Amino acid sequence: MLDCLRCMHLFLCRKTTAPIKTLTTLGRYVLVLLTLAACAPLPPQRGYLWQPSPNHDQRRPNFVIIHQTSDKTVGEALTTLTSPERRVSAHYLIGRDGTVIQLVDEAARAWHAGKSWWGGSTDLNSASIGIELDNTGDEPFAEPQIAALLALLEELRARYLISSANFIGHGDVAPGRKVDPSRLFPWQRLAQHGFGLWCEAPPPSVPPGFDPMLGLMAYGYDIARPASARQAFRRHFLGSDADEELTIDELALIFCLLQMKNLRDTGAQGASAGDRANGEVLSH
Ligand SMILES: [Zn+2]
Repeated sequence: MLDCLRCMHLFLCRKTTAPIKTLTTLGRYVLVLLTLAACAPLPPQRGYLWQPSPNHDQRRPNFVIIHQTSDKTVGEALTTLTSPERRVSAHYLIGRDGTVIQLVDEAARAWHAGKSWWGGSTDLNSASIGIELDNTGDEPFAEPQIAALLALLEELRARYLISSANFIGHGDVAPGRKVDPSRLFPWQRLAQHGFGLWCEAPPPSVPPGFDPMLGLMAYGYDIARPASARQAFRRHFLGSDADEELTIDELALIFCLLQMKNLRDTGAQGASAGDRANGEVLSH
């Protein structure tokens, strides 16, 4: 359907020589045929042979990125997120009272992550659902808002089979550039529901030679600016904005999270009922 709309859009944006109202019956007939033609499968991009296959569906998001608006009211946030000049959006905005407003179709690419990096991915907008929470960044997140967020995340996980580790924050994917959601965001509570990872009992020690920055990078963080990466990690897992060198205990926490991520990722690769329903088990 989106492909069709995109083609229609491309067609209707072309210059026409006469307004539709003035077209003759034959002209309208031709217009319909042209519109149908515009909805045919897109041709190959660079002149490759084109042999369309019916065995496909829409691409699906594989991450959820959580934000805070840093605005005082949901009205201010709505103005920003829908202003053509601001060129920012999100799929969902959740008010302090738990009201959920959808701004962008889940199948479309909302402009919420911006320049970002996570585990080698450089275009998180293309791979994620963005959720904005109405919050200034200096206040606790309201209970009705978190309850509504949990319900929405439950729907998204069921719809897209998103693994636990892939529920992350804007500050995680843009260290040094973004700091949302703030250190007050309840990541531990989310993880208790399976949204994001949390290590309750890190091991007493880590393997000899374990490099904390490589560990952070293996977990997903961009370590180009080490202090920013440390700060992003602490904001998410320790409720702190400190950026100094990592302690022994923090090394153990990173090691623990890495082990969890590997276990969860391995599990996510199994053939779930959803995978089978989508025919992916039969992938070539
Ligand atoms: Zn953000």
